[in-house]
Amino acid sequence: MHLSNRNTSQWQKIDSDHHLHPFTDYKDLNNTGSKIIVSAKGTYVTDSENNKLLDMMAGLWCVNIGYGRKELSEVAKQQMDLLPYYNSFFKTATTPSVELSRILSDITPKGINKFFYGSSGSESNDTLVRLVRRYWDILGKKNKKTFISRTYAYHGSTMASASLGGMQAMHGQGDLPLPGFVHVTPPYYYKFGKNMSESEFCNYAVSEVEKKINEIGPDNIAAFIGEPIQGAGGVIIPPPNYWQLIQKLCKKYEILLCVDEVICGFGRTGEWFGSQFYNIEPDIITFAKGITSGYLPLSGIGISDQVSNIIIDRGGEFYHGYTYSGHPVPCAVAIENIRILKEEKIIENVKNNIAPYLQKRMKEFENHPLVGEVRGQGLLVGVELVKNKKQKEFFEPTGKVGNICRDHCMNNNLIMRAVRDGMMCSPPLTITKEDIDICIDRFSKALDLTAKDVNKLTI
Ligand SMILES: *Cc1c(COP(=O)(O)O)cnc(C)c1O
Repeated sequence: MHLSNRNTSQWQKIDSDHHLHPFTDYKDLNNTGSKIIVSAKGTYVTDSENNKLLDMMAGLWCVNIGYGRKELSEVAKQQMDLLPYYNSFFKTATTPSVELSRILSDITPKGINKFFYGSSGSESNDTLVRLVRRYWDILGKKNKKTFISRTYAYHGSTMASASLGGMQAMHGQGDLPLPGFVHVTPPYYYKFGKNMSESEFCNYAVSEVEKKINEIGPDNIAAFIGEPIQGAGGVIIPPPNYWQLIQKLCKKYEILLCVDEVICGFGRTGEWFGSQFYNIEPDIITFAKGITSGYLPLSGIGISDQVSNIIIDRGGEFYHGYTYSGHPVPCAVAIENIRILKEEKIIENVKNNIAPYLQKRMKEFENHPLVGEVRGQGLLVGVELVKNKKQKEFFEPTGKVGNICRDHCMNNNLIMRAVRDGMMCSPPLTITKEDIDICIDRFSKALDLTAKDVNKLTI
């Protein structure tokens, strides 16, 4: 279905004239023009020039069951015909939001049984900040307000969620972070590991958290928040013991453990949630993206019994919510999406079959002269491009080589994302081994072309 039969350059012109994109240098985009995406099926998206691109990013880390699943569009239509909208503010509820909450309580980490909805990951992390501060207020610990997060964390783009995030460039715009948000070293061994072994580095990264807790004072710390595997920060895989030690610290100092499951949730690690993969029991989780496989906007926050009991029994009214909290249409789509994930055993297949294959094939690139490290877990991969492998020397300025490589990928009908000078993959969970082979082939070409360009750049 096309809205009209405009051609590519007409779409690009109107796009430049009237549309401001997220995270975009507008002048730069207007020089090249947008790639206009018109349709998609399975793991491939099609642009307005009829190129079929292998989407190794699942849209934006979100199209978990792949494109073109009619079951989801049919459920959305049925729900729209039956009840397109109703709110849940004034002692009303809609059936999909109620049913989804029951289903989520079965699959989310142990102890998490209450759910509050929004429409984006950013919103849910804002909800998290308000709810956590409210929790400590109710308990009479009114100084427990500060959040500890990590450098390179991504938690969204609103004022509070960007403050939770650890992206320097974002903090540089809009006077962020807000007061009450601090950041520590992430568990990024390749970049920050120096001469330590991985387990020494793990202890170091955890000790940095403890140092920060003591610097600010445990009585002033509300929560620690982290993505199980940092996604937009560059697919940062923590050392095996990291999350266990963080959980211990949180217990020791009476700090809530908050886990942002926006990318890891709904199967990406080969478990339903990243918290289950790392065997931790968070007090609060947030989720979005994969819950509807991106077909409609929906997010939420899942709250443990221990926290929700306090909020419910002693909190009175929680003055917070969104017009679209528990919107019936995305909730109905989420129920269908979760049914498909379960019945087609998609997450088991990721764990036992597809993820090991993707990781094994991508690891082959560690032989490439440009590649410092290939790291990954589940269906997340990061390929670190470096100037000098032996000395782990990164490119300066950061980001240039990554963008060159991304453009070569795109010209080879392969969608990957560059983060600094790393190349990221986060494909649909339904990707086949045949498509992984195609990805390897195309990425290999893109890397070789990038290496040629780099040789021209640096003498
Ligand atoms: C994408 C993302 C968010 C923000 O979600 P939006 O829907 O873009 O607001 C938050 N946390 C993580 C880990 C994400 O990847």
